[in-house]
This record gives sequence, structure tokens and C-alpha cells, in this order.
Amino acid sequence: MALVALDNGQNILIDVNIRASADGEDEDVHDVAQDLKDRLPRDDDGRPYVDALLISHPDVDHVSGLRNHFHLGPPDEYPEDEDDDRILIREMWSSPIVFRRASSQHKLGDDAKAWAKEARRRVALFREKGLDGTDDGDRILILGKDRDGKTDNVMEIVILQDELITAVNRNEDGQFEARLLAPIYIDPDQEDAEALIELLSKNNSSVILRFSIMADGTDDACRFLTGGDASVEIWDRLWRRHKDTNPDWFSYDVMETPHHCSWRTLSHDRWSEMGEDVRVSADARNALSQTRKGAHVVASCNPIKKEEPNPPHERAKREYVSITASDRFHCTEEYWEKNSRPVEFSITHAGPSFSHRVAAKKVAATIGISAIPTVARGHGSRGRR
Ligand SMILES: [Zn+2]
Repeated sequence: MALVALDNGQNILIDVNIRASADGEDEDVHDVAQDLKDRLPRDDDGRPYVDALLISHPDVDHVSGLRNHFHLGPPDEYPEDEDDDRILIREMWSSPIVFRRASSQHKLGDDAKAWAKEARRRVALFREKGLDGTDDGDRILILGKDRDGKTDNVMEIVILQDELITAVNRNEDGQFEARLLAPIYIDPDQEDAEALIELLSKNNSSVILRFSIMADGTDDACRFLTGGDASVEIWDRLWRRHKDTNPDWFSYDVMETPHHCSWRTLSHDRWSEMGEDVRVSADARNALSQTRKGAHVVASCNPIKKEEPNPPHERAKREYVSITASDRFHCTEEYWEKNSRPVEFSITHAGPSFSHRVAAKKVAATIGISAIPTVARGHGSRGRR
């Protein structure tokens, strides 16, 4: 999960991974849902809310806990029970994958199905009532035009590939902009459409956004690149698409590594077959190495070890360290084990800084990234569940 807290008090949450083990009374397990709620404002009815929730793609580690911790359905059906303290999603941000029918290529878990159902409810309401008739808790932005014309009659709520998002929950006050780099739109007439449709299933349907965030009234104080679980084929394509005209669209001060520091983001070669003979894909590496001065890379993953299976992958970590520096590469779970808190950056006019203690009131905007902060270790009694 990554929480982008804007200077004006609005919050954009990217992905949800709150596992059931974090919901119980177990003191060894961090209550990540409470931690999240403590960072969020409440509306006049006392309901915690996010201004936008983006699910980058509907895989289980990006949508777990949605049904348990978020209110789905019309906002006036929010539960009365005080113990049922759910987070209201003022605006959903979703790729058009929610329009797809289930198939062998497109199987969804229960949280992902609930996300798709809620998205369809909001799109139907927009069709019926238009922009003016949809309020907090009913709004949706579709990130990317769908093929086969499925989004053609709702284009007012669609952001096209390469376009900018400039408002969250329809509030456009210059706090940020975010460029939609992916999902890649497939023109059915293009030569490799069939191959692309195959490629774009699952992880490769991931939304890729490059944020530019204002802080202390300074535009573009921090650039943040986030790309779900998109693999090397996507980064290769994106780089070839933009390298001559807009290489700057990839530049970042903070990047969350795609796919949890997977080797498959950076290379077409299999480590299991080639070991140290593997080659990095130059195009994908270029896309992921457009750093601004002092940039940080965050891998949201388990501790990175040489022997462990991919992801995370130690060779991928080496590549990211070569792009930034060893003290500017952060693994969320390793950081959690030492500090019992998520990785956070506070943003001022001078840019983002890695912060060991964010005084929430003092800094302007922040980015907090946390992969799996659900298991507090150090008691020696419990492993991951
Ligand atoms: Zn993932």
C-alpha cells in the first residue's frame, strides 16, 4: 500500500493489502487498518475516508482486505454500528479491467470481484445521473480506454493513456498531477493486437502513474513513479514509445519498484537457467532509471535474500542500487523489522526526504509506502502467516 498525502489534506491510497491475520486481537501482529485510519481524516458523519483509492490491478496482494475495511455500496448505506468503522472511498480509480468478463485469463478473487462490482455500480450511476449527480462515495475514474468501445459512452470519466490526472475527487486545485503511462491501449487494428491482448492479462494490466506533487506551494516538488506489477515487456514498450519525445515522463525522486523487486521487471532472461549470465533489458532499465538528484527506490517486499525465490530478487536489488545508491534503496519489510513502521518521505519545497519520524502536522505532503506491515517480528514467537 502507498498513501500519498497532499498538502491540502486530500489522500490518495494506492492498493490495499490488509491480511486477515492483522485483523485479530493478536498483539504480535500490527493492526495496519487502524494505522491507516489514524492517518486519514473523518467526514461530518465521523466516517474515515480516502479521497481516492487506486487498485493498480486486481491481484490478491493488491486488493486484500477491501471488503473487510472499506465501505462498498451507496454511501447512505454506511453501517450505523460504531464498531464497524469502515473507510469510505470518495472516488475509485480503476483500470478498465473491471469491464472484462471472467475468463481463464481473467480470474478474480473475492475482494477483486467486490471491487469490480462497486466500479460497475458507480459507472451505472454516472450513466444515469452524470457528473453532477454523483457525489463523494459514488465517484469513479477509469484509467485507460477499454478496447471494443466499452468505455466509449463514459469518456467524461476516462483518463486516456499519456494524459494527466489533475484532480482527485473532482477537486482541481493544483496540488498534483499524475501522468497515466499504462495500461497500454490496444487498437484492435494494430498488427500485434492479439499478442498484446495476451500480454495484458493480469499483472500487465497494471496502472502506471508518474505523480508530480506540490509541497509548500512549490510545484513539482516530488515526482513519484508507481507501476503495480508491470513486467519487462511493458517497460520496454513504454520506453520505446516515449524515449525520443518524452523521456522526462519517467523521471522520479521516489519510485516504488514494480512487482516487488522482481527480476522479471528488468530482464527477459531466467535467473534459474543463466545465473550471473543474465542480461538486463536496456529499454526497461532506461525507463526505470530516470532519476532526479538524490532519488530513492522503495521495494515493497519481503526481506531480500540471495537464495530466496523471485520476487524479491537480489540481482534486481543490485540493479536498483546501481541506479540510486545503497542508502537510498529501501526494502519495506526489512525497514519494518528494524523500525516497526512503514517507509515514509516528507516533502517540502526542497523535495522529498526520507524521514524516520514524520511529524504529521509539520511537513506539507508525504508519501508512505508499506508492503506487508502486518507482522511485527522480534518476539521470536511467530513467523509470517
Ligand atoms: Zn503484487
